[in-house]
Amino acid sequence: MARIPENEIERLKNEVSVERLVESSGVTLKKSGKNFLGKCPFHDDAEPSLVVTSSKNLWHCFACQIGGGPIDWVIKMHGVSFRHAVELLKSDLPLTASRAVKDGTVRKLPPPVVFDADDASLRLQVVGYYHETLKTAPEALAYLKSRGLDHPELIDTFKLGFANRTLGLRLPHKNRVAGSQIRARLQKTGLLRDTGHEYFNGSLVVPVFDESGNVTEIYGRKITGKLRDGTPKHLYLPKECRAASRGVWNLAALAASREIILTEALIDAMTFWCAGYRNVTSSYGTSGFTDDHIAAFKKYGTQRVLIAYDRDAGGDGAVPDLVEKLTAAGIECFRIQFPKGMDANEYAVKVLPAAKSLGVAIRKAVWLGKSLPPARTGGKAPEREIEIREAHAPQAKQDAPLEAMPATMSVDTGSLADVPARIDSVSPLGLT
Ligand SMILES: [Zn+2]
Repeated sequence: MARIPENEIERLKNEVSVERLVESSGVTLKKSGKNFLGKCPFHDDAEPSLVVTSSKNLWHCFACQIGGGPIDWVIKMHGVSFRHAVELLKSDLPLTASRAVKDGTVRKLPPPVVFDADDASLRLQVVGYYHETLKTAPEALAYLKSRGLDHPELIDTFKLGFANRTLGLRLPHKNRVAGSQIRARLQKTGLLRDTGHEYFNGSLVVPVFDESGNVTEIYGRKITGKLRDGTPKHLYLPKECRAASRGVWNLAALAASREIILTEALIDAMTFWCAGYRNVTSSYGTSGFTDDHIAAFKKYGTQRVLIAYDRDAGGDGAVPDLVEKLTAAGIECFRIQFPKGMDANEYAVKVLPAAKSLGVAIRKAVWLGKSLPPARTGGKAPEREIEIREAHAPQAKQDAPLEAMPATMSVDTGSLADVPARIDSVSPLGLT
């Protein structure tokens, strides 16, 4: 993140009146000699413990033993970071310019949500806000790049977002009626925690949309390497806040192709997508293949699923159950076998170019049925598949991908040790 210029900080320290800020937070100040005294809002103050020294533009509470300048006040008052306090103050300069505004409150950045919107709209608006945030968040963009997900169309196509704690900054303060109401509603929809913090804080946000464009599920992936013990890296909306149906990510794929690659995680699915294999969707984790998936496969006439779960104990363990469900729905199952221990993303990031290495993996997918494998007729070049799948708009070209499947299926393909590798191109970040 870019540094805040020193002169900018100095300017705010000098130009924003602490006296006005404190008053705008609802504290009544009384003149006492050279200072002003008021009741401190940060503790249960029976007597005026808060001192504002206007000549120095500083405040101090004798009971709390805290104080500072205008930025410190905003940090404490609004529970925000230094950066966000600066952002707030910068956007609020009229407050300091006009001392005449008696009952002014620290004016917020414009709220990204419409307060009387219904729950579905509210979710959509927050997803939209996260989407805009991602586009200007270097740390989130760097994360996508580190995972090989820096395809120019990915962010907009799937409305990817980033939750970076700024949502709360844009809402009225929680001790105001409008502020507490909107926060309660955002809690109900699962976007804020009971503590008031953003549920997906610090996460890349991947929304799942239904056919009408409603958000049915949200996946969050923490992008920071340093997490407190016990902090989950992967998040979905809390159960009680979800829509009745979690839906299926990338329905356009189901509409466009009767052969679908199914990953266990959305990051893996996006990996295939970025490499040109756009007939892909994802379960919500190894135990997250839902009735919604089956229903959608049936509805769109999915004939074949290439299971691309991780090649590890979790992925391997989940496959038999998955195959049973898919087979019962009349769907042919193949397994894309990554090298042992790897998932799709790791494989694609390590074995470049991803379009080629994933293409090999797809061609070598192993038939999982009990009888002989069905014939997979048609072309052989992965280029052809890529070409077809890049025309990813649902064009009802339903047969094309099936025909395009290479006929090189064999029952025993073993590992992918022989993939054309450029293993020397291992990601220097080593992120997982
Ligand atoms: Zn105090």
